[in-house]
Amino acid sequence: MITVKTKELGKPSDLVKNIKSIATNELAKAIAKQLSERLKNVKCNNHPSSNPIIIIRADDNGKCTVLKENFCCTEFKNSIDITV
Ligand SMILES: [Zn+2]
Repeated sequence: MITVKTKELGKPSDLVKNIKSIATNELAKAIAKQLSERLKNVKCNNHPSSNPIIIIRADDNGKCTVLKENFCCTEFKNSIDITV
């Protein structure tokens, strides 16, 4: 089963940056929700007991990067569509 996690930004003391961080964190959460819905029943046929992780990382530029980690094999990793 694929685990979807978010890596959210902290809370900067600067108000404008803080608002931006909150918005980016919300975006990360929305992407995580969408991906976990899409991937909830997806598993590797060759390694059904593996525990791959998808991380949605919020960055300071207001964007989110989606990372695939701990995948059992390249075939399965490449088969997962993470475009949102
Ligand atoms: Zn596999």
